[in-house]
Amino acid sequence: MNDPSASVQHALAENLAGLGDRIARAAEASGRPAAAVTLVTKYIPAAWARVLATAGCHDLGESRPQELWTKAAALADLPVRWHFIGHMQRNKLRRTLPAIELFHSVDSLRLLAALDEEAAAAGRQVPGLLEVNISGDAGKGGFEPAEVEPLVERLAEFAHVRTQGLMGMASLSHAAADAERDFERLRLLRDRLIDRLPDGVLWPHLSMGMSGDFEAAIRQGATLVRVGSALVEGILPSG
Ligand SMILES: *Cc1c(COP(=O)(O)O)cnc(C)c1O
Repeated sequence: MNDPSASVQHALAENLAGLGDRIARAAEASGRPAAAVTLVTKYIPAAWARVLATAGCHDLGESRPQELWTKAAALADLPVRWHFIGHMQRNKLRRTLPAIELFHSVDSLRLLAALDEEAAAAGRQVPGLLEVNISGDAGKGGFEPAEVEPLVERLAEFAHVRTQGLMGMASLSHAAADAERDFERLRLLRDRLIDRLPDGVLWPHLSMGMSGDFEAAIRQGATLVRVGSALVEGILPSG
């Protein structure tokens, strides 16, 4: 693996520091410490991940299982926490689950059941977030908001999936102000259901916000923001 050039390292570190400042300011504006929000960087080339890890960013996300396997193997010596964010095929679960810290996109009852079964077979629990279609965009994945409430009553059936909260995406067609309304909807849903969770289940997390809207998401209570393009802005892929 080639080390990135000094200029790439410098640009990455600058982008990361800039993101950290913006996250901290948005968190403080929402009455929370900067540490209440975790930056999950996505789709980072493995060679660049070392630069990030050195700069203190250890939460990396992928949406394709194969990419995650390859990078997890290449970076096995680093203290990386892997986040899976995307659509998962059942036949890839077994190999992916042991590597991940958090499964952000539990988007159907079928996947929830499959995760539960795989985790049970492995004798462990898998931490996950329920993905909710807050934007109403047709074709977007995830549970409809109205489906989440009845699902809460059933979470105890899937005891090997330790749900920790909700994940959502703002509508792609929306302006920033509308994105914030989508995020608010997710927070209100979480707040409304939090007292009805089965014993021992806690939902501290809201995974929401990407490069273009993470500040709005943080204002609405995001604890995990998933940033891809803003981190690599201005850096040539040839590095
Ligand atoms: C993060 C993310 C994107 C794009 O992220 P950018 O930070 O805008 O590059 C797209 N789709 C999903 C599901 C994501 O989680």
